[in-house]
Amino acid sequence: MKTKLTIDDFKGMLVRALEMIREREDEFSRLDAIIGDGDHGQAIVAAMTAVTHTAQKGTEFKTMLNDMGFDVMLQVSGSTSTLLGAFFLGMSDQAEGTELDANGVRRMFSGGLANVRLQTQAKPGDKTMMDALVPAVEAIQQTEGDDIALLMQKGAEAAARGAEATIQMKANFGRARNYGERSIGFADSGAMSWSCLFQAFAGALNQ
Ligand SMILES: [Mg+2]
Repeated sequence: MKTKLTIDDFKGMLVRALEMIREREDEFSRLDAIIGDGDHGQAIVAAMTAVTHTAQKGTEFKTMLNDMGFDVMLQVSGSTSTLLGAFFLGMSDQAEGTELDANGVRRMFSGGLANVRLQTQAKPGDKTMMDALVPAVEAIQQTEGDDIALLMQKGAEAAARGAEATIQMKANFGRARNYGERSIGFADSGAMSWSCLFQAFAGALNQ
């Protein structure tokens, strides 16, 4: 049972996410190579490295999340960085103080998703990272109670189901759409890496 999320808790979630994403860098790039340019592993590792580094200086949520979002967009080019940056900037819009309760965590993740939606037209079912992010944030909103560890666990489970579901999907967004039927049978690299992010967040709070 975890009823308060502190800045140090959040930094721990990010460090864990960077570790887990690094471990799976090659897998994410191999998936991206099937319907893209094969750089997703390198891109998500670079982006998570930047945000995690910036977060270490943070002393309260709003400024820390804002700095993370701006730094990753400035330091790392490409859509992975833009979407991750938008996520943390949106979280910053809806978070303040040095610790959050369960409603504060729900608001923070809802703000992150809202800002990502301003950056991409992709919807669940298009075989993109949104297939993991949208159900994760919805599960965080819909899980009742004060236990932040449980919110993150339900978010992680929803993200994993969403990422798994992309295996059966035909790419319907961006350049990947050109691959048509050939995109079926493989998970989307971005859905898998964003699911990994949520697994790490949950793991850091449920150990
Ligand atoms: Mg790529």
